[in-house]
Amino acid sequence: MIVFPFMSVQSEATSTKQNDSISKTEIRNVGFIGLGIMGRPMAMNLARGGFSLTVFNRSKDAYSEFQSIGARIAKSPREVALGSDVVIDMVTDAPDVEEVLFGPDGVVEGAHSGLVVIDMSTNSPEIAASTAERLAMKSIDFLDAPVTGGDRGAREGSLTIMVGGNKVVFTKCLPILKKMGKEIVYMGKTGSGQATKLANQVAVSIHTLATCEALLFGSACGLDLNLLLRVLTSGAASSWNLVNLGPRIIKRDFEPGFKAAHIHKDLKYVMRVAEKERLALPGTATVHQLMNAVLADGYGEKGTQALAKILEKLASREIIS
Ligand code: NAP
Repeated sequence: MIVFPFMSVQSEATSTKQNDSISKTEIRNVGFIGLGIMGRPMAMNLARGGFSLTVFNRSKDAYSEFQSIGARIAKSPREVALGSDVVIDMVTDAPDVEEVLFGPDGVVEGAHSGLVVIDMSTNSPEIAASTAERLAMKSIDFLDAPVTGGDRGAREGSLTIMVGGNKVVFTKCLPILKKMGKEIVYMGKTGSGQATKLANQVAVSIHTLATCEALLFGSACGLDLNLLLRVLTSGAASSWNLVNLGPRIIKRDFEPGFKAAHIHKDLKYVMRVAEKERLALPGTATVHQLMNAVLADGYGEKGTQALAKILEKLASREIIS
């Protein structure tokens, strides 16, 4: 059993002016599925925040730290749902969301009426809409609530969380989201969280390319790259990528905060929307193509900064400080 003190959510729940009939019952029991780079610290922050936590992960090596804080370990997503008021999933892609929610032994198998499912992984507005519809048929509420802020934001509980779905459900779940993030923005109807996240990834992916190109250029000019980063991060060129990934590229640290395979996945969804809406997104399309090469070179499980390796290959030189 979890040992953390219960956190009151009454003030959040009662502050809403919505007429919806959702119960304002306090949320105590939170289930968390997917204890990867992001999910593990996010779930840990929920436990630290006083929620009674049940976790499930496909591979079992993530469990020891949760056992040591008294979280319940479930044998399946179904078992997570049995004891939870809210179930969060933070898995990889849409087929994984499908498996943990609707597969054999999935969340739906153990769900009760009024359960809330929050998908915090990144996929697409269409997938969010169809997931919400299918869950609604079982009287399960749904929010799409992807995040930005990286592994650091997950550890520090300072993620930005963008949420789509019913506003009353959002208000009910806000105390949970506040334990994982600082900036929590209700974006509107179901799918608008994922649409916002994909817009974020358009900007992020181009910033990643900009970071890699600036360092390659500086290196070719013989500059001290630490000094270069000092200048670039203090002026108009600065970005999250320059601040967080720039130093890792200089140290030739290509370990993932955010995996290259994941930005590749996100850009796949961006390009689908772009095609449907007849949008020309040449910058994003370029990064998507380059990420094909990152994956082809076997760097899918490395961080997005592995893009630098492909630019180095094209330039036949390394980024050297
Ligand atoms: P990750 O480290 O690869 O973790 C993914 C987790 O999902 C793992 O625990 C994995 O289990 C689990 N999983 C995947 N498929 C599953 C399935 N079919 N059934 C059960 N469990 C499954 O990835 P991450 O970096 O935490 O990212 C998770 C999501 O957040 C992705 O959608 C990503 O795009 C998004 N995101 C990531 C970042 C970031 O900076 N890392 C930032 C914002 C958003 P196993 O341990 O068994 O593989």
